[in-house]
Amino acid sequence: MKSSTVIHIGFDDTDSRKGMCTTFLAYKIVEYLKKEQVRFLDYPYLIRFNPNIPWKTRGNGAVALKIETKEPQKIKRNIIEFIKKYSATEDGANPGLVFYENKEIPDHFSKFGKAALYSVVNRNKAREFAARNGLETFHLGNGQGLVGAIGAIGYNFRDHTFELISYRDESNFGKRRKILKDSVMRMQQITYPKTFNSFDVIKNRVLIAPHGPDPVFFGVRGEDINSVMQGASLVKSQEKYRGYMIFRSNQGTGDHLENELDIQNIKPFSSGYLIGQISEKPKIEQGGHAFFSVTKNGTAVKCAVYRPTGLVKVAAKLIEGDLVKVGAGVRKASKNHDQVLNVEFFEVHGLAKDIVMTNPSCTRCKKRMKSKGKGQGYKCTKCGKTASKRVGEEIPRQIGKQLYLPIPSAHRHLTRPAQRMGKINTRIEFDGSKKWFCNLN
Ligand code: ATP
Repeated sequence: MKSSTVIHIGFDDTDSRKGMCTTFLAYKIVEYLKKEQVRFLDYPYLIRFNPNIPWKTRGNGAVALKIETKEPQKIKRNIIEFIKKYSATEDGANPGLVFYENKEIPDHFSKFGKAALYSVVNRNKAREFAARNGLETFHLGNGQGLVGAIGAIGYNFRDHTFELISYRDESNFGKRRKILKDSVMRMQQITYPKTFNSFDVIKNRVLIAPHGPDPVFFGVRGEDINSVMQGASLVKSQEKYRGYMIFRSNQGTGDHLENELDIQNIKPFSSGYLIGQISEKPKIEQGGHAFFSVTKNGTAVKCAVYRPTGLVKVAAKLIEGDLVKVGAGVRKASKNHDQVLNVEFFEVHGLAKDIVMTNPSCTRCKKRMKSKGKGQGYKCTKCGKTASKRVGEEIPRQIGKQLYLPIPSAHRHLTRPAQRMGKINTRIEFDGSKKWFCNLN
């Protein structure tokens, strides 16, 4: 009898903006693997990496699968064929595919995934890693996709969520998605807090469906399998979709911002947080964005809060001396601007006193004194009492010591939504009996 082999399969960078999507390719590969009767050992992974990588297509997502098979060679050959057939290499995709045959993933693999979550990883590092650790690789183009592919198989979830992604029939690709807005709003109300970021009540906008030509119909994000399945069942549309697949994901965990940025050496395109004092108070510039500086250990860095985040009004209330934590992606310096931290959240840790200098008040009459002329002091017009100097008066602050998050429509896939604050899903075991894959054809 043939023995079984466990294979971890990771792939990335198969799509372009013109169509396809790496998760849909994963759906097709799983459809094929089901026919081959392989045993699935975990939910498919959808891992989002550093959202500030300039060459990403959209959400910088990679996929991993863990299976057991008696025919590893045949399975690997056929998956390579899928990657060759469906990757949009003519539109700039640089697919990477890795296979790792071993029951478990060694602990040190997680370091690679972590680095890809908040820094820029050179593709040569990916090749070296694969060679050193016995990974089989396949790539097309420049092989950049190997970074996401390796990162995905080795990803170590500190916390995780799920997403049910449904896919369209090919006949509907490119057509407008007609999803009943009210059904999504209601779905969110019914399933809250078990699902997240389905509808933005501030903007009155559906957040579960993309707008492009890709095969995704909609995606429901949530805490567990039952919640995303319930959520999806409540979404109403005339369109019959082709099927769905549920992914284990790091979306909504905020984990890309768990990394502390080193103010002396902030790397372009990295993600992380910084705690420092406001050293230059916010200025609203053209386009309605707020810019301010944060200083730590004597070094200042410029920060930007952009209008679509809905945070400009409150950020504008920060003043010099406030202690803040900012979570941000690093925009590279260019000829026209300095390096900037694009703020994804900020948390006020300490509020400075807002003091304005005013004419003194009369201690007897409680009335504000009048100036007697430049350098001549102040006088109460009622009782004649005098004073020599202006006094500082504390203005109540209009910002609290709390966390400020963008409105949901400005969230990135990785942004931790307010309802998930403090929530950590430790390992939810794979339950193969749940309907995590569905083909309606
Ligand atoms: P989609 O969301 O539609 O799947 P995408 O936004 O994931 O598309 P890709 O086409 O996969 O975009 O491109 C991202 C590329 O960046 C991949 O080649 C991936 O391997 C690589 N990559 C991901 N994270 C990093 C990182 N931290 N450093 C360097 N390269 C990275």
